[in-house]
Amino acid sequence: MITNKITYYILIICCLCVFSCKQPAKKTTDLPLSGHITKAPKDTLIIDSNYSFEEAVAGSKAPQTIIDQLTLIQVQYYSFDSLLHQGQIVCHKSIANDLTEIFEFIRKTRFPVAKVIPIVKYNENDLHSMRDNNSYCFCYRNVSYSKHASGLAFDLNPMQNPLRWKKGYEHRTDLPENVVYNPEAPGTLYPQHPVVLKFEEKGFRWGHNFRRNHDDHHFEKRR
Ligand SMILES: [Zn+2]
Repeated sequence: MITNKITYYILIICCLCVFSCKQPAKKTTDLPLSGHITKAPKDTLIIDSNYSFEEAVAGSKAPQTIIDQLTLIQVQYYSFDSLLHQGQIVCHKSIANDLTEIFEFIRKTRFPVAKVIPIVKYNENDLHSMRDNNSYCFCYRNVSYSKHASGLAFDLNPMQNPLRWKKGYEHRTDLPENVVYNPEAPGTLYPQHPVVLKFEEKGFRWGHNFRRNHDDHHFEKRR
């Protein structure tokens, strides 16, 4: 009887030992789950614009003869967030290669460009586009004075490079409004700036040299 009791107690103690032993910790891994990115790598491409040609000219009042002379190109640039972005330009076919080459230069030299999106995103409204610091080419408006109407002018970083009226025209509004021109700020152009020289090398005229104003964001090509 005593032997049975001892055996009984030994069994209880053994059971308690087994259950109180800790299970080995499950192996964990420090690697992120597949497809889970915690931080965007530096070479992530951010798509700013992804229109088809038809979508990009859909809201334009331009006659078909002008639309037929346009094309849509993709360009890449580093924006002010230091990340690589992809945008699109609707331009006259005759300057498509020039703009492609200029944007390769802009990307390689890391001149920051805020965004490059066809004006359709802004309902063909140049002011809305400028206030969003958008760079674009084609916008149909008064053909008699604007090269944008035929896709032969390009505006670059308007918030850094505002149109400023010269002496005698101060009553007119600088555009975009209330912007301070600071040639030392990133994305800003000035005479002899490498990006200005690149546009001029490709035959563009810089708006900085207009008679009545310094249209620093504007480049145009005459045919
Ligand atoms: Zn312009």
